[in-house]
Amino acid sequence: MGYLFDLHCHNKEGSVCSRLPAKDMVDFYIKQGYSGFSVTNHFTGSTTVPDNYSWEDRVDHYFTGYEECLKYAEGKDIKVFFGIEYSILKFGTHDMHKIMGNDFVILGLTRDWLKANEETFNKSTNELFDAIHKAGGYIIHAHPFLEEDWISHIQLFPQKEDAVEIMNMGVSDDTNAKARWYAEAFNKTVTGGTDIHFTDIPYVSGVECEKEISTVEELIDEIRNGRTKVIHKKVI
Ligand SMILES: [Zn+2]
Ligand SMILES: [Zn+2]
Repeated sequence: MGYLFDLHCHNKEGSVCSRLPAKDMVDFYIKQGYSGFSVTNHFTGSTTVPDNYSWEDRVDHYFTGYEECLKYAEGKDIKVFFGIEYSILKFGTHDMHKIMGNDFVILGLTRDWLKANEETFNKSTNELFDAIHKAGGYIIHAHPFLEEDWISHIQLFPQKEDAVEIMNMGVSDDTNAKARWYAEAFNKTVTGGTDIHFTDIPYVSGVECEKEISTVEELIDEIRNGRTKVIHKKVI
């Protein structure tokens, strides 16, 4: 077996919808035999950041979920990477809580970049994605065919998204099958992620790397170059 990484994880420090404390998240992935995971709390929508925060405070508060994991993982045999899950905002609202759905797991962004790019999040999705790419970010379309009340319509960005999440443990097999169809049709790189919000779940997902990874840039590089395999396995 290679090195397993979960790319899509929510803890309660950063996501209102999660019941999983950062500390338990670290223990859970060690127990599952993973080499690491990326903390991808909701940056828009179901975020724990209060409405009235300034942008700078918002970013700092948002980082808590990641930093708590990082702190607890110190000295342990597990890597913690930073990521965000971004849900497209209702057009023209500029309100980080008013989402219209279509979710993206984005890796490779930094605190400084987020702090400097408040305006970028008010631009069109295409412009936002261009700016993310310019910053070295990697865009994964999470569960692209999820249908829920808050998702007004499904939007695909085959030219802009770098990869498609074809294995998500929070959606139905049918929804994952549609994502596989989309990825195959457009010849997209594929990834997996548990989309974990609590640990009483039957399966975990993620990607398997052939070599040990120590930075998120290395992880992105492995995914980008097709050296990762999508996996899912039973929770131990
Ligand atoms: Zn959530
Ligand atoms: Zn998610």
